[in-house]
Amino acid sequence: MAALNLETPVQYVQGVGPVRASQLAELGVITLGDLLTYFPRRFDLRRQVQPIDSLTGDEGDASVAGVVADTEYRPFGKLPYFACSLDDGSGWVTVKWFHGGYLRDKIKVGLHLAVSGKVSTYRECRQFLNPRFQIIWDPAGTNLDQDELMPVYPASGLIPSGWIARIIQQILPQVGRLIPEFYDAAYLRKRELPERATSIAAMHRPEDKDAWKEARRRLAYDELLLMQMGIALQRMRTVSRPAFPLPLNEEIDRRIRARLPFTLTSSQDKVLTEITGDLARNRPMNRLLQGDVGSGKTVVALYAALLAVAHRKQAAIMAPTEILARQHFNKVEQYLHGSKVRSAMLVGGQKQAERQQILAALAAGEINIIVGTHALISEHVQFHSLALVVMDEQHKFGVRQRVDLREKGHAPHCLVMTATPIPRTLALTVFGDLDVSVIDELPPGRGRTHTRLIDRSQMKDTFEFVRKHLQEGQQAYFVYPLVTGSEDVQITAAKDAYVQLTQVFPEFRVGLIHGQMPAVEQQHVMREFTSGAVRILAASTIVEVGLDVPNANVMVVTHAERFGLAQLHQLRGRIGRGQSDAVCLLVAGIKNPIASERLRVLTETSDGFKIAEADLRIRGPGEFFGTRQHGLPELKIADLIEDFDLLRMARRDAFGIVKDDPDLSDPGHQTLRAEMLRLYAERLGLVAG
Ligand code: ADP
Ligand code: MG
Repeated sequence: MAALNLETPVQYVQGVGPVRASQLAELGVITLGDLLTYFPRRFDLRRQVQPIDSLTGDEGDASVAGVVADTEYRPFGKLPYFACSLDDGSGWVTVKWFHGGYLRDKIKVGLHLAVSGKVSTYRECRQFLNPRFQIIWDPAGTNLDQDELMPVYPASGLIPSGWIARIIQQILPQVGRLIPEFYDAAYLRKRELPERATSIAAMHRPEDKDAWKEARRRLAYDELLLMQMGIALQRMRTVSRPAFPLPLNEEIDRRIRARLPFTLTSSQDKVLTEITGDLARNRPMNRLLQGDVGSGKTVVALYAALLAVAHRKQAAIMAPTEILARQHFNKVEQYLHGSKVRSAMLVGGQKQAERQQILAALAAGEINIIVGTHALISEHVQFHSLALVVMDEQHKFGVRQRVDLREKGHAPHCLVMTATPIPRTLALTVFGDLDVSVIDELPPGRGRTHTRLIDRSQMKDTFEFVRKHLQEGQQAYFVYPLVTGSEDVQITAAKDAYVQLTQVFPEFRVGLIHGQMPAVEQQHVMREFTSGAVRILAASTIVEVGLDVPNANVMVVTHAERFGLAQLHQLRGRIGRGQSDAVCLLVAGIKNPIASERLRVLTETSDGFKIAEADLRIRGPGEFFGTRQHGLPELKIADLIEDFDLLRMARRDAFGIVKDDPDLSDPGHQTLRAEMLRLYAERLGLVAG
């Protein structure tokens, strides 16, 4: 038989054969390399654990596991001892260690403990005397205190874990040498990482818990490093085209600021320093601007746009929806009133003639700032000299698309704005090829938003509460997770609620807005709400995106448990935009402890980053981004939240490697390069070879 390598199909591994190979394929194990990195999910004691109530006292050796119910330490007497009682639900048993004082700090009430040894009977009761023991440090996961560990592999109905364990144990000594090392000894020493081959072996058969942890850390590092190298390479490509440099000087700065009706906050100034620093270069900016709702991102974007205009270049500002595009456009017009800067808006509903005129003016360079939806860039609109693209994403990550103007020559600088604070860990991964700026302070003079959790049985009181605010002249949002009830009869939908609200509040005008309405109708309702003619707005989640009505200071979110935390945070950002305090009522079945605990985060903090982290922790990265492709590579070992420090180290290292050796042509980088291509070639559009 030919010599094995990591790409050898498992079928040819001794003891596997075609039948097992096809069964392994269903577990995703195709090659020898896959098999070697098919790691145990947890470890069990080798000996079978038996129920405590089945101990007879004369079986010789036995193993049991349970929770430590109490402990006792007798330091004096002829035979000092430490004892505990162990309860596994079927019964309890005494476990005693003579001269066991050293165990006092180890074995505590509440711990999960497995013991293994001789069973005896003392005063009619069973007990273990001086047994071997193992603290099960994670009852649901892995327990590793001594070498009597049985790896438990994720198995299938056809392939038992024990078979996988046997095969791997049998091949490990022969194939360990096939596992390539990515780094030299000095590199590993500096980062206190064990060798890769050793680590893979230790993941299957660790000597102890520490060895397993070390091995895991090494392999998690590899995963993160490879991911970050992919990101670093992607970023190199995006900045490889030239861009128009847009340097700032005092005169330009003075003229732009003179346009603004307020002084920028120090946070806005800080991000502008970062942005203008990028814009001064002849490489395209690729920056993510994060800032909570209402933190004032729009004016930062406008500042950047005006800097482009000062250099006689064009800027495009894009919003995810037409409503928002219009809102941005109104803001821009307001700020530019009386200036020579020409702006225009391009959205779906415009008349053909008007559209043609705008397109022609854009191509001729007569329009300086164009505001529109994301269609602006996908429709191959011709620009005269586009130097800056601003994408206001709000929190719709799903629609994030890279500027790809497919034009030769200069690439525009690109600023992506997002209102959902992105947990640091995702900023380094999903958005890892962007630089990040954060506005972390709100403009002065804002009211506070108080958030309360309300049980759904108290809907009547909630209506009365809202009525009081309406009588004082305020306006209110009622937000619902669905537009129509047909999807799920249990859930109140915006359309049905609209009918109900008109009955509950006959004295006030109620409006309805949702994403399935034509844009013209949406605008009409929004205008009526903004003007105050409509006092109550029943809405689907469409209001989460950037609407700005300072007089609306009450929001009731029904079925709040159906929303993500970040989304709710975004929703409540719609209120408290004026000077008075605002109230957000989250209505949910709060007797459900899981739901209410989750929602409570919102009542306790208004720090968007904390909320986003909590959301990520609870729902995982996939959910956090919604169902759409988020472009996050699958990680088998590393955990983006738990391994954050490791992620940062891997990122630094990866960017360093790519900077020094952009083609990865250095002989020392060949194993890394091969692995990189194997994992990410397709995803990154990189070509092997
Ligand atoms: P975001 O897009 O970040 O949610 P906006 O840009 O819409 O926030 O700003 C929210 C409101 O705050 C707007 O009405 C804007 O005019 C106002 N604003 C922005 N910056 C300042 C500032 N430095 N001082 C006072 N008001 C500001
Ligand atoms: Mg905004």
